[in-house]
Amino acid sequence: DLYIASDKRYDHMRYNHVGKSGLKFPAVSLGFWHNFGNNGFYDNMKAICRTAFDNGITQFDLANNYGPEYGRAEINAGHILEEDFKPYRDELIITTKAGYDMWPGPYGNWGSRKYLMASIDQSLKRLGLDYVDIFYHHRMDPETPLEETMEALAQIVRSGKALYAGISNYDKEHTEQAVRIMKELHCPLIVNQRRYSIFDRTIEKDGVKKYCREAGMGIIAFSPLAQGLLTDKYLHGIPDDSRIARDPRYINKGVLTEEKVSQITALNKIAEKRGQTLAEMALSWILRDGDVCSVLIGASRPSQILDNIKAIDRTDFTEDELREIDRISK
Ligand code: NDP
Repeated sequence: DLYIASDKRYDHMRYNHVGKSGLKFPAVSLGFWHNFGNNGFYDNMKAICRTAFDNGITQFDLANNYGPEYGRAEINAGHILEEDFKPYRDELIITTKAGYDMWPGPYGNWGSRKYLMASIDQSLKRLGLDYVDIFYHHRMDPETPLEETMEALAQIVRSGKALYAGISNYDKEHTEQAVRIMKELHCPLIVNQRRYSIFDRTIEKDGVKKYCREAGMGIIAFSPLAQGLLTDKYLHGIPDDSRIARDPRYINKGVLTEEKVSQITALNKIAEKRGQTLAEMALSWILRDGDVCSVLIGASRPSQILDNIKAIDRTDFTEDELREIDRISK
């Protein structure tokens, strides 16, 4: 069936500048870490992408090793882009990354020039694209000089294989150093992709949130729903169609302690009082102060996207609400 994008796709979504760059991210972006590997259903993947784009989600986030197996999410994304989104390429931000384990031997991991230069070419092939919009170094590498990693990113940008560079999981010290190096190289390093949610405040504690605001660098928040914990789905046990039941590679039932469930229950009550679902409130909370330009969600079905985009309608919080959320989630 031929896909024609909704002509209302830009009516509702908000777009925020990525730091001081000219690029804007949709306030809600879609990630392909789960549900796009060989354990997913292609028609469902397609439906998720269509629902996202029809509602103004213009950013699809990938990495070389999203699967299973490694590379499969990029291959599936490539088919979907080819079949559905060819006419819309210039309306889309497609991102990918390298930095974690990808292929055997010493050159398929971490941050060497050798790894990054090969990985971008592999990713473009799998995606069926001439360029990605952002190419990220996925994590810090303690054994490679940061100059080498950044020079590789800069060359990838200069060669036109990526339009902008990004870093992910970088702490404050290394973010600062990366910014300094990329300034010297005149390369647009515009964003740090970090985990951030009501349950994970690391970027507040390690100074990255504040530093990026001051440096004019964007932050995009991944796992904003703590992989589904910050929704109403685990209030009464573990549903069969949840990530914990179906794909416990990175989250398993051990996280659902009595304390966690009581925290989720209490947060759900605050959300109800605000007239939101817990998922909506968890995303609104991240967008509350403008420091984070996009929440990078995952979705196992289209209906979750329709729920999550409502988060942008109510990003204001009272002091009382914020204090309660802090107290509960401590
Ligand atoms: P989330 O915290 O948004 O979790 C997404 C999952 O929560 C969904 O797959 C779904 O799981 C559940 N969910 C989503 N919306 C709802 C809803 N409205 N109601 C109920 N359940 C819901 O994000 P992810 O952990 O999936 O990460 C998102 C993206 O961030 C990744 O795809 C990736 O692009 C990026 N990322 C980057 C990392 C990095 O190192 N740079 C690391 C991790 C992620 P289900 O229905 O199956 O239970």
